[in-house]
Amino acid sequence: MNGKKQDQTGENGTNPNPPSSETVINLDHGDPTAFETYWRKVGERSAITITGDQSLSYFSNLKSLCWFLEPKLEEEIRRLHEVVGNAKVDDHYIIVGAGSSQLIQAALYAVSPFDHPEPISVVSAAPYYSSYQEVADLMKSGLYKWGGDANSFEKDGPYIEMVTSPNNPSGEMREQVVNRPQGKTIYDLAYYWPQYTPITSKLDHDIMLFTLSKCTGHAGSRIGWALVRDKDVARKMVNFLVISTIGVSKESQLRAAKILGIISDSCQDHDKSSELENFFEYGQHLMAKRWEKLREVVESNELFSLPNYPSKYCLFTKHVAEAHPAFAWMSCNSDVEDCEIVLRGQKILARGGRRFGSDTKYVRVSMLSREQEFNLFLQRLSAIQGNFTREN
Ligand code: PMP
Repeated sequence: MNGKKQDQTGENGTNPNPPSSETVINLDHGDPTAFETYWRKVGERSAITITGDQSLSYFSNLKSLCWFLEPKLEEEIRRLHEVVGNAKVDDHYIIVGAGSSQLIQAALYAVSPFDHPEPISVVSAAPYYSSYQEVADLMKSGLYKWGGDANSFEKDGPYIEMVTSPNNPSGEMREQVVNRPQGKTIYDLAYYWPQYTPITSKLDHDIMLFTLSKCTGHAGSRIGWALVRDKDVARKMVNFLVISTIGVSKESQLRAAKILGIISDSCQDHDKSSELENFFEYGQHLMAKRWEKLREVVESNELFSLPNYPSKYCLFTKHVAEAHPAFAWMSCNSDVEDCEIVLRGQKILARGGRRFGSDTKYVRVSMLSREQEFNLFLQRLSAIQGNFTREN
């Protein structure tokens, strides 16, 4: 890198190393670079300055249960949920984490009974977010272990169910499936934002996890937050964060507060004069256009198929709309054994169905790449279909 910018985009917003026919396109991770275009237009208004004398302390607010949470970030999180109407915040504690990844671990720790003779099961309905299994088994914890697909979970006693809604990888809204008195449910709502799905109700669960990564696209800041109703659970989660990292970077929190403030401003009428485009309308439009293009390519042949999502009234946009998930959960027809391998043959990296508790007939493709990568993905997808039809 020799330019001023240390990210991967050039001055005019295009990739300075545009992908060529030889480039491998990595759509395995849900890296949310699609939203760079919005933030580039916002420009300097989204900048923050932190001088050397600021934010030295470990502490942010000694009066708060989560004493390392910056008050400005707490304020902007509460404001955004009020503006969007996707979650109830007034009787919940807010806990900040290094991404919601850290908060998943904190929540597992906090809801596991300490006196159970063996690790309790962590389950989630297949296809489930592949990290849950990795996180649950990483430390070979005495508290919990991965228990697999919630649909076939039959063990008695305490358990934890992860509910991802909208789901990663398959995009549909979900509810808990096990539903027994000894269970605890953690709602991972990373994608419950208007650009991905209609907001159909203000959710009010005991533990709800959100992340800046998927809300605004700032995955690099590593900021997530939990809304937690029960004080004891909140305290244990804070304890987990204190023991693992003694809190969360203040620079990241202040940047997150600024970014969240901008998107709330962009949604509120009185700010129309500042010409900030409504972030969620922008995101919804971008996602809808991508899904339309992908469906066109997929429908023009019989090799792949995509799930359909019902149209629902969105309380935020006040329109009826379909979901436009962050991932395409593609399945291939009966002639194809392994969807991931077919894509890899065209230099497209995506995550195979097995990682999500499903099978090789499925593959998850990120819809959140930069525009050039996305268009190249579509081109290559059309080419596979062409080849495949000719050979067969
Ligand atoms: N939950 C879900 C469902 C996700 O898809 C992701 C990111 N892929 C996360 C949590 C973690 O996000 P982060 O750690 O970036 O906040």
